[in-house]
Amino acid sequence: MSIASPHAARLRAVRSLLPAHEAEACLLTATHDLRWAVGFTGSNGLLVLDRHQATFLTDGRYEEQAQHEVHEARIVVVQGDLIAHAMDQGMLPEGAQAVVQGDHLTVAAWKRMHERAPGVRFVPVSGLVAPLVAAKTPGEIECVRAAQAVTDAVFEEIVTLIQPGMTERELAAEITYGHLRRGASAMSFDPIVASGPNSALPHARPTDRAFEQDDVILIDMGAYVDGYSSDMTRTVVLGSASADVQAVYEAVHLANESAIGAARAGMSGKALDTVARDVLNQAGYEAFFTHSLGHGVGLQVHEWPRLSQQVEHTLPAGATVTIEPGVYLPGRFGVRIEDIVALRDDGCDTLTASPKALLEL
Ligand code: ZN
Ligand code: ZN
Repeated sequence: MSIASPHAARLRAVRSLLPAHEAEACLLTATHDLRWAVGFTGSNGLLVLDRHQATFLTDGRYEEQAQHEVHEARIVVVQGDLIAHAMDQGMLPEGAQAVVQGDHLTVAAWKRMHERAPGVRFVPVSGLVAPLVAAKTPGEIECVRAAQAVTDAVFEEIVTLIQPGMTERELAAEITYGHLRRGASAMSFDPIVASGPNSALPHARPTDRAFEQDDVILIDMGAYVDGYSSDMTRTVVLGSASADVQAVYEAVHLANESAIGAARAGMSGKALDTVARDVLNQAGYEAFFTHSLGHGVGLQVHEWPRLSQQVEHTLPAGATVTIEPGVYLPGRFGVRIEDIVALRDDGCDTLTASPKALLEL
């Protein structure tokens, strides 16, 4: 049985970017983009792509892995520095213009390229393939859903463990263990477990604080499963929620639902951020939603596009993005609710299955 690999189409799409940069070739160096482009999952690779050829370079540790994984590219196994080898072998012709990933190349590599290939003009571009990576196939969307299903299962399990006296750090350890036990290869970021006043810090790190009766507990977690990341935040109460907590929770929940109701491909990230922000402004929490609404999630836990007041770009069909409004009352408590949705031209599909009604444990 043979399933058409998506890599030929992806390399075609990358090639189609070259004329806009007046370039004959491009170098891909970011590991997550190499996985997307040719399928390689190792940590050291370089793709040299010109209009006619694709050459993938790696080192001896990955020779066998590259033979199994890499599609649509000639494989070259190199001793030493990959970029130096590509330049020394003249893989980019004299006088050529080549696009490089401006946000994934060290200054040292940049210098080496110029020393070894003085006749080539290198053009650094930020986010070169990001819009291509963002527009996911149905198969990729299912990969994100599968990663999120692991996180949903972990959430269902860990809420039963929460009790007074347990520390934030202990719960974070259970979250990590639960993911790895269910097949995640790694956490995609250190879990956030923030209780009581700590929940008012949007990016709190777990501490030795022990949970107390009626604490608000904010939990944000994500993990890689088969290369794709999950990302979810839920906020629960240990005991019963005060009227203030209920009011904030209701507003954040409504902001989350309103944004999901409005989300579709073709709108701007800014417009979607505004939908959630308007709900929180109307509820009087204008000053307390201190971050942007969300971000792309896929082979990286944070990838293009951003849903933020600062960015005007249009959201592509197939993008999987988080919707994560929050309200943080300094010194008191915070609430965030985060789901992942996949954008369609006429709406979106929610990939997160965990319940969102206020959970009082
Ligand atoms: Zn998150
Ligand atoms: Zn997130």
